[in-house]
Amino acid sequence: MDSPSSTAAETRITGRASILLPLPLAGAYDYLVPEGMILHAGDYVVVPLGTRERIAVVWGPGSDALPAARLKAVLERRDAPPMPADLRAFIDWVASYTIQPPGAVLRMAMRVPAALTPPTPVTAYLFSGGKLPERLTEPRRRVLDTMAATSDPLTAAEIARKAQVSNAVVRGLADCGALKRVSRPRHAPLPQPVLDTESVTLSPDQQAAAATLRTSIAQDAFSVTLLEGVTGSGKTEVYFDAIAETLRRGRQALILLPEIALTVQFLSRFEKRFGCQPAAWHSELSPPRRQHIWRAVAEGEVRVLVGARSALFLPFSEPGLIVVDEEHDPAFKQEEGVIYHARDMAVVRASLGGFPILLSSATPSLESRVNAASGRYRTIALPQRHGGAMLPTIEAVDMRAAALPADRWLSPQLVTRMGETLERGEQVLLFLNRRGYAPLTLCRACGHRLECPHCSAWLVEHRFHGRVQCHHCGFEAAKPESCPACGEEASLVACGPGIERLAEEVARVLPAVTPAILSGDNPRERGLSSVRETIDAFGRGDIRLLIGTQIIAKGHNFPGLTLVGVVDADLGLSGGDLRAAERTFQLLHQVSGRAGRGERPGHVILQSYMPEHPVMQALVSGDSERFMTTETAARRARRLPPFGRLVALILSGPDLGQIQQLAATLARTAPHETGVTLLGPAPAPLALLRGRHRYRLLLMTDRQRNIQQTIRRWLAQHKIPNAVRLHIDVDPYSFL
Ligand code: ADP
Ligand code: ZN
Repeated sequence: MDSPSSTAAETRITGRASILLPLPLAGAYDYLVPEGMILHAGDYVVVPLGTRERIAVVWGPGSDALPAARLKAVLERRDAPPMPADLRAFIDWVASYTIQPPGAVLRMAMRVPAALTPPTPVTAYLFSGGKLPERLTEPRRRVLDTMAATSDPLTAAEIARKAQVSNAVVRGLADCGALKRVSRPRHAPLPQPVLDTESVTLSPDQQAAAATLRTSIAQDAFSVTLLEGVTGSGKTEVYFDAIAETLRRGRQALILLPEIALTVQFLSRFEKRFGCQPAAWHSELSPPRRQHIWRAVAEGEVRVLVGARSALFLPFSEPGLIVVDEEHDPAFKQEEGVIYHARDMAVVRASLGGFPILLSSATPSLESRVNAASGRYRTIALPQRHGGAMLPTIEAVDMRAAALPADRWLSPQLVTRMGETLERGEQVLLFLNRRGYAPLTLCRACGHRLECPHCSAWLVEHRFHGRVQCHHCGFEAAKPESCPACGEEASLVACGPGIERLAEEVARVLPAVTPAILSGDNPRERGLSSVRETIDAFGRGDIRLLIGTQIIAKGHNFPGLTLVGVVDADLGLSGGDLRAAERTFQLLHQVSGRAGRGERPGHVILQSYMPEHPVMQALVSGDSERFMTTETAARRARRLPPFGRLVALILSGPDLGQIQQLAATLARTAPHETGVTLLGPAPAPLALLRGRHRYRLLLMTDRQRNIQQTIRRWLAQHKIPNAVRLHIDVDPYSFL
């Protein structure tokens, strides 16, 4: 079965070719095709640009606009699978939608230029079966034992690792004829998923869901399915079935996860179902691994890939299914460079490629719900936890009534429950989305607050390291002994809790337990492996009480966890984010969903100063439907997304006056069309970030309009000075 990209044979391009460079230029450039060079759209080529040579992609036939004398010639065609037509169409689409130069989007698809050179073969070794060496040392014997057990040619390094010897031992055995040298492709073949493992039997509900998905896949056409299932209902098992079906039909599958680097549990589950780990794509891959996987995706050797949002730009040769797991997760929004939402762009990729996509979540985004309600998306529901496990009971504790002293954050109700739970041998999770010791440090004498010198943000104390840190730019300093403003000694006091400080309180109220803390938001802080270790240790039950930030909310299974305490349930509700309520609901629902996944029922305590808030009410009653319906009606009434469209423009630069002036000029010339409203310019809530002043403009429009075109025309009238950066954020999710 061929994918659409490979059935449409490309016509040969002669004379002139339009070449797109992976650079933020206005568009593609024309080059001459040398006599005898065979080029097709999608080919990777080397072209001169200025005084340099660049790798670029043939985008189509060239035009006659310029005299041939002004054009340079293509230097070379690279020996790599051409970029598929559907990926090229996707790059153009994303560029047009996000109002970015196509070359800036192409750059995301060409992050691994080394992969465009075919890998050179390597020397490998085989057991020669004949001659034994005269001197049979212990290391030599280990090598020969290793090699006798395999018929695959292995490199010296691979053998050395297996037999625990040095490379020289291997070479020595080859020199005396006990091993023979052969040439082998650089990489051993990737393990291939096995489809017919009998790892699970789907429940009747799950079977029905899987059958619906299989029908979508069999239709071999674009469709979007929203899989909404409570936490623990088996959504993953169901989409594994869809992946198996995709593989059976000879297509590749892509699974997008919000936090790929931390999904150890996911990878081992995949391995249980398919007999091998999937190929993974994320920021921590080593460059050689990155090259290998990129090329294996392009050549069709990778059948299933699990990736972060950048995996959308990989050159799949036979794409057949995309799964977006936790589709509501804000981490799918890329906030830098080309600003895009990976879930939305994944839908576009599937539509351009003509294959199905599955969005999975326990708490689907309002956007996806609206699309489902209007019939644009199919829906499948899994309303029950697998194996009869109960959903946790959720209770809100009114913190106004608790009247705690200023340095205490755990209500008596929560402390009592924690004690009882631990006594029964069960586990407790405290959730607080605040890293460090305290979010604010204040001088008792003069009221001065420790602020970042480069950002409009407070410095967060990290007491373990004795330092204060800016969570926006990474600025760090030793915690001062005296107030930097008034000089008073020992006057600085911590205000509010971070997870480190909460650990102190736990140690005070429950002296018998040693709490562990986990904040993966900044893996460098503690090392990613220690994050994994902590998650594993909690999963095994070796840690009794864990205090964590949102890293802990996602996808993990902790069978012994029966009590979740949300320390500050109101935390996400303040601020000017139109999705604040929705997001808080989703996050707290997800955290709550960690409880009671094993045999014993779970309980959740939400500590809130506004337990009457619709978000708390929805969580307590479990009536998410009503909450989302009310939210939807409110958005509809205010013409907010998904009923209207927003585009944010953020100007930033070192000179405040220059930014203000440019913002005013932009506002004065803003498009005057009915149905388009401009809000701002106004200083951004983060008015200073990394030493740059920031101003925001926000356009609100209806959905039918091609607002991108309007904005392009508007911005084309202005020259943005070099010192100023303009970020265009179509469908903004961050309002900082
Ligand atoms: P979700 O993705 O909806 O949170 P999972 O797929 O992670 O749910 O399933 C929750 C737990 O139940 C997992 O440990 C999973 O292995 C188990 N499970 C789900 N469905 C089945 C099944 N049909 N047979 C056996 N175990 C299952
Ligand atoms: Zn800062």
